[in-house]
Order: sequence, then C-alpha cells, then structure tokens
Amino acid sequence: MMRQYELVEKVKAYNPQTDEALLNRAYVYAMRAHGHQKRASGAPYISHPLEVAAILTDLKLDDATIVAALLHDTIEDTETTREEIDRLFGAEIGHLVEGLTKIQKLDLVSKKAAQAENLRKLLLAIADDVRVLLIKLADRLHNMRTLQFMAEAKRARIAEETLDIYAPLAGRMGMQDLREELEDLAFRHFSPDAYQAIKNRLEELSEKSEPVIGRIEKELSQKLSTSGIHASVKGRLKRAYSIWKKMERKSVSFEQLSDIFGFRVVVDTLAACYATLGIVHTTWQVVPGRFKDYISTPKQNDYRSIHTTVVGPGKQRVELQIRTEDMDRIAEYGIAAHAIYKDGRALPSSAKESSESNVYAWLRRTLETLSEGDSAEEFLEHTKLELFHDQVFCFTPKGQLIALPQNATPIDFAYAVHTNVGDTAVGAKVNGVLVPLVSTLRNGDEVEIVRAEGQSPPSAWEEIVVTGKARAAIRRATRAAVRKQYAGLGQKIIERAFERFGKEFSEERLKAALPRLARATLEDVLAAVGRGEMYSGDVVKAVYPDYREEQAAGAGANLAEGGWFGVKGGQGLVFKVPGSSEGDGGGDMSRAIPIRGIGGDLPVQFAPNGGAVPGDRIIGILTPGVGITIYPIQSPALTAFDDEPERWLDVRWDIDEQHPQRFPAQLNITVINEPGALAQVATVIGESDGNIDSMSIAGKTADYREMVINLEVWDLKHLNSIISQLKTKPVISAVQRVNG
Ligand code: MN
Repeated sequence: MMRQYELVEKVKAYNPQTDEALLNRAYVYAMRAHGHQKRASGAPYISHPLEVAAILTDLKLDDATIVAALLHDTIEDTETTREEIDRLFGAEIGHLVEGLTKIQKLDLVSKKAAQAENLRKLLLAIADDVRVLLIKLADRLHNMRTLQFMAEAKRARIAEETLDIYAPLAGRMGMQDLREELEDLAFRHFSPDAYQAIKNRLEELSEKSEPVIGRIEKELSQKLSTSGIHASVKGRLKRAYSIWKKMERKSVSFEQLSDIFGFRVVVDTLAACYATLGIVHTTWQVVPGRFKDYISTPKQNDYRSIHTTVVGPGKQRVELQIRTEDMDRIAEYGIAAHAIYKDGRALPSSAKESSESNVYAWLRRTLETLSEGDSAEEFLEHTKLELFHDQVFCFTPKGQLIALPQNATPIDFAYAVHTNVGDTAVGAKVNGVLVPLVSTLRNGDEVEIVRAEGQSPPSAWEEIVVTGKARAAIRRATRAAVRKQYAGLGQKIIERAFERFGKEFSEERLKAALPRLARATLEDVLAAVGRGEMYSGDVVKAVYPDYREEQAAGAGANLAEGGWFGVKGGQGLVFKVPGSSEGDGGGDMSRAIPIRGIGGDLPVQFAPNGGAVPGDRIIGILTPGVGITIYPIQSPALTAFDDEPERWLDVRWDIDEQHPQRFPAQLNITVINEPGALAQVATVIGESDGNIDSMSIAGKTADYREMVINLEVWDLKHLNSIISQLKTKPVISAVQRVNG
C-alpha cells in the first residue's frame, strides 16, 4: 500500500511549490473520516483515495486536484459535509468533492446501452470543472485495478459501465493510455474467456516477437539518424482489448490478425514528422488505406499524430505513430496536459490560444470539444441537437435516466416518464423532499412523482412546462376535461327537456337516434347540447319523431307558477353558500349545476349590469357559443328568456371557502350635490372592504347626482351591509342595487 509520504514525494517531484501541509491535512482528515471502513480487498479504506491521488500525480495535477482526490469519497461515504470541506480546505476543493459526490449517483444507475451517450453527457454536465472528471477517471481506474475483490455478480456490470462510459470518456479527453488500461481491465472481467485466450496467444507471440520489435526499433533509429533526425522509437505488442475489437470488427481469427505490433516515433519538430514518414514509406511497403494525417487535421480532442501501417521485416504488419513531443504529451495526458499548465506557465504550443487568464473559458471550450464526437457525423448531430449544457439529467427512483431541457419542472419529468404519470401527477419529491410541481429540476436530481388516479392536469400547467410533450398532453387532457364538463351539462339539459316534453330519458333510445342527429357518439350529442350548439328540443324530437308540439304547452306555465320547468316536488334551485340559510332550500342538490364564479372550467359569466353574488338565488341562461350567463332570480332581464324554457338551467353556488372570491354587483346611488359627497361614498365602500371597479355619473340635477357604481363584494351579506352603511350617511339620499 502506498504511504502518505510517498504521495507527497511524487507531488514534489513535479511541483516543488506544493503546499505539503495541505496535502498532509487532507490525508489525516480523510483517514479519520473513513475510520475503520474497509475496501472489498480487506485493505483500510484510506488506501483507495491515496491510490487515486497517486494516479493523478502521474498526470502532474495541481494541489486542489490531489487534495480533492484524497477527500473524494468523504461526503458520499462518511459524516462529512460540503460546508465542512469548504471551511477546512476552501470552496475550490469543496466544489470538486461535491462534483464527485454527484457523479457517484451514476454508479447506482442500472445500465442500459441506449443510455450510454446520455450518461456521458450527464457526466460532462455535472462536472463543470474538468478536474472533477480527471479525479473520477482515476477513481474508476483504481476501482478497476482492484475489481477482482468485488463480488462476481457486480464485476460484469461495473466492467460494462467502464467500457460504455468511462473508457470512451477518457478517449474523448485525449487520454489514450488511460483509455486503453480501462478497456483492458474491463475486458478481463466482461469477457474473461476471450480475454484469457488473447492474453495467452499474446504471451506466446511476445517471446517470438521480442526480436522482431528490437530489430525494427534498431533499423528505423539508424535510418532516421543517418538522415539527421533525432528520434525515439518504441515498439510494443498491442493491448488485448484493441486486438479483440479488431477481430470483432473485421471478423478475423487471431491467426489471421497480422498487425499486432505498434511503434511510436517521437521526433523534435513538425518537419521531422513528415521527413520520418518519407523514410518509413521508402524503406517498407505501405499498406494502402491505412495512412492518416491527424497533424494537418487534428481530432476533436486535440490529438495530433501521423498514422501509417507498413509491411515490416518477416512480413509482419507494423503500425507506426509519428509525432512531436508536444503532441505525444497531449496524446498521453489529453486534457490533463492542458490542466497541468493551466496557470499559463508553459503552455504546449497547441494550446496557446487558451493562455487567457480566464480558466473557465478554457474549461468551457474543452467541455464543448468533449461533447462533440470523433466523427463528422457525431459532430453534426451534436450541433443540431441541444448541447448538453442546455439539458438537465434526472433519475427516476428506479434509476432510469430522463434527459430534459434546462428549466424543466417535475411536471415535464412526469410527462417524459409517461403521459399517464403526467396526467395524474399531484406532487413531486426531489431527492426525497416534497417540492412544488413548479420547481426547476437540477442535474442529478432523483424525482418521484406523487400521483392520484382520476386527476386531470390544470390548464395553467401549460404555461409552466417547457417540453412540447408535456404541453401537448396537458392541452389534450384539459380539452377532454372541458368536453366532459360540457357533456355533463348537456346531459342535465337533455334530461330536463325530456321531462318537459313528458317523455322518459333513456340512453339507449338516444343512441338509436344518433344518425338522425348526425353525431357519432352519445357524448358528442351531450357535449353539443352543453355547448349550446344543439337545441335540446331537437334531441327529444329526434328520439320521438312522432311527438307533437302542443304537448309541451305546460312548460311556460310552470315557470310562471314559480315551479321550475315542470320539475316536480320542489326541485327548484339549490344554493350552497356557507352561512346562508337559503343554502338548503329543500331541493335536490344533485340536479343543479354547481357554479364556482368566473374562471373555472365551465364557461360561466355573470349578467351585465350587476351580476349575482353568493346568497342571491340564481338562474343560468344558456347562450349558444358563449356559455352560461348567471342572473339573480329577481333580475328583470330574465323576462327576455320567458319564451325559451330550454335555455334555463338550474344552477347553485358552490363556493370554495379555502379560496374566497369577489363577485360583481352594481349600485345606483343618489347623493346630495355638495363638495365631498363622492369621497364619502368611496370611503364607506372602501372601509367596508368593498372593491370599487368603476364609478360614473348617470344623471345630474341642481341638487342631486345620480351615480352608478360597479363594485366587487364577497357575498350578499357583505353587499347588504355596504348598502346599510351607505344609507346611514346624510349626504346619500338613496341606494338601490341594480338587479336587487
Ligand atoms: Mn472512490
């Protein structure tokens, strides 16, 4: 096991200015925090963060990264909090450790191949500092190096995740060595048999090939040196995993596979790269189609090198990579090569443009590069679609990843999971805590939707959600709900009409009459009548074509007698107003349509000039294409509808006591014409908690002013009390409610 002083030595070797005390403090802190925790191998837990930190010293990373590596599992696995790390080690390190804690969630995600790309994006979205990714990769590398201690069932899953997510990520970050090691370790556990077979064969070959490698190294070095090129030439057998991939890709057997040797030629200058290429191509036979110039066209991750394959001595295929030292460092360390020099000390030539003091601009550019794939196709795809930083990635409680646009709400999340989940959502828990459905989700949030069956989404949600899917579904659901309301209304109107015509209502008969009504379904008819598009009398006539008009003569008479459209047994209007004795009325509440002010799902409006307030007995008048207009029963305006009984509806108040609402009323007031009279009227109404909407002068004489006041009150009792107050003022000679 590595020791703390060894780690400090490693850091000092490349960074003599390191804050040794800080490193030691972090070590002691992590050791205490992890206490007696053990790794699966039985080793003390602290050995893991120590090894992770050591891996990062190979990349020559800064103190903050090394310290964060030492602390990387403390928030996740111990009592430590972000605040404590901020306090003891500063916010920069706290931020890094927190980033790693968030990513830790990923390891819990049940892996689905289709999600790999999303998961890589999530990593990038969470890690707003590239150092978080570097620590995460080192963490994964150490876990892979010690994977044999894990339970067998877990190994394959972790290995697969490494192949799908972490190895490609390392590749995109330009860290080829790290990628290859991760792939090899993963391959060993993911396909143990294939791995072993290739490994055995490679060992066999390496005994035979050692002379071949040596021979090529020597021959090439000599040729280059006679041409005045200073170069280092290193050959090796390729890794088991890359051989396996090639076998899969080309469906060839191991025996047929010829290029298992790779050589790296590192030279001093750019010109020397091309000179070397010329010498290689004139010395050995070139394998067509294998030449790639990543120097003139670098990869997205900044990788630059010349690749070519030749037929070497002994007819072996040999792959060569030719590059300068700068290019080699980037090829090996990738992004970390930039990170090392991020304070601008010794920028590699390729990164000169990033020497700006603004590290974040550099980070952003790097992360953008990362989000782009290697191929032109992938690049296009990513520029077309939203980039990852416009997205948030959240999880279901079962670990399914849901990608949403920025500013998405739990409602969007619910609809993304399933339309039915969205339609029945009534609440949400984010990371175990109940939050309003209108909150904004953040990366890595685990979201649980609380549902209630039979619920339908309020139309106001449409304004809140950000995804098209949610918006369309809400619109659909609201439309269905409104249609249902209209159908319910229509049903009542039709039942009423049948009674008025002295016929019995039956759904079966109505269904049989659908063709005559030119409607497809029963609900179509009900909704059409509810919306006022179809006259209820026509429905009765469609069901009873033989019906003769004069039989309905009684309808109007009933109304005049104070009965209601022939409804028997005192089934009059039903009012439900808290604290009102009129509320009971002795009627059948279920027959009346509940009215809840303006703004509900039913298209309800109040009669012009006065309206109605709770406590008034009310009647609804159906106006085709408009909806229901509510009148107080005493309103003289109602006489206009005496001849149209089918338009009259039983309605009752249904006041929501939790959410009191004001209703419109109108007063005619006559005041004595003297200074301050208007002010007195306004004061009385204001002090009685009335809301004046508008005031106008309706008539003038020398002594009096007649005015019309539109105001809003809570209910009839409130209105009456305002009227009484007004009447006590000597300046007011008369108060009259319009419609009163
Ligand atoms: Mn760890």
